[in-house]
Amino acid sequence: MNTVHLGIGSNQGDRLEFIVSSLPRLARAGLSVRKVSSIYETEPVSPVPQDPYLNCALRAVTRLSPREVLDRCLAIEAAAGRVRRQDGESRPLDLDILLFGQSVITEPGLTIPHPRMTARRFVLTPMAEAFPGTRHPVSGRSMRQLLRECADPHQVVLYCKAPPLSL
Ligand code: AMP
Repeated sequence: MNTVHLGIGSNQGDRLEFIVSSLPRLARAGLSVRKVSSIYETEPVSPVPQDPYLNCALRAVTRLSPREVLDRCLAIEAAAGRVRRQDGESRPLDLDILLFGQSVITEPGLTIPHPRMTARRFVLTPMAEAFPGTRHPVSGRSMRQLLRECADPHQVVLYCKAPPLSL
């Protein structure tokens, strides 16, 4: 079994519902969700003007390969109605693989750890809350340290407690 950390975001429609309903979908796809962070309301980090996001982070265990996890995540995003047109645009559901154990992967279309996670407060705030001691495999720094060092000025505000895990 491998441990995987995902980041989840939504800034369209019923944002909370898109996030909460992705959890059983992930479970059915082969990712056994063990812990979910609180949900935060976050200022968009994008040149494209758009509404605020809700974001959270989770830990799951899986027998799937990193590529299989990516394919499952893309399918769940598509089922939520996501249509890819341009980078940085708003979306009903965004699933990012942040960490896959301590693996470092650079393949066409798949980079792990997620290349922008250490620069984003909306990723590090939920990760540091729920998984403070988890380390980034390249820098060796914990999520707590990375958040303390993060210079991202975009606002991140607690929105609600972790959604219940009925798994
Ligand atoms: P985004 O617009 O941020 O959702 O970009 C999704 C695309 O980024 C996917 O089609 C993947 O091919 C690619 N990608 C590369 N690395 C990752 C990762 N660690 N997690 C999710 N998507 C990734």
